[in-house]
Amino acid sequence: MVTGGCLCGAIEYEIDGQLHFARNCHCSMCRRATGAAFATWAYVEKKDFRLTKGQALLVHYPSSPGIVRTFCQVCGSTLQYIAEQDFPDAFGLALGTVDGHPGCRPMRHVMVGSKAAWFEITDDLPQSESAPDE
Ligand SMILES: [Zn+2]
Ligand SMILES: [Zn+2]
Repeated sequence: MVTGGCLCGAIEYEIDGQLHFARNCHCSMCRRATGAAFATWAYVEKKDFRLTKGQALLVHYPSSPGIVRTFCQVCGSTLQYIAEQDFPDAFGLALGTVDGHPGCRPMRHVMVGSKAAWFEITDDLPQSESAPDE
């Protein structure tokens, strides 16, 4: 069981399943949503995910057509990237909100064409200029 939650602790979740396809997204929207050089997302099957605390505090923000990002109303932690049409059965979970080891590691960098000018990628993971094909 993987568990996690937001910065203030108001929202907690558990995942009874495998996290997949973790990637570092360098797009400007992910950078703004997290305040960091990139966001690390891992796919979680909706059926495996359960909010155990703070459901009413989870704000849904439609950041672009077909995309909803969720965050904690109290502390602002980014939690989910939901693309309902493209991935109806799964969503992207902000991997930094996981307690302990999520059982997966980032496998690629995506949207590096819009990465922060001040950040240099220094690992050997594959890079995509735009969104990945998978
Ligand atoms: Zn919070
Ligand atoms: Zn992004």
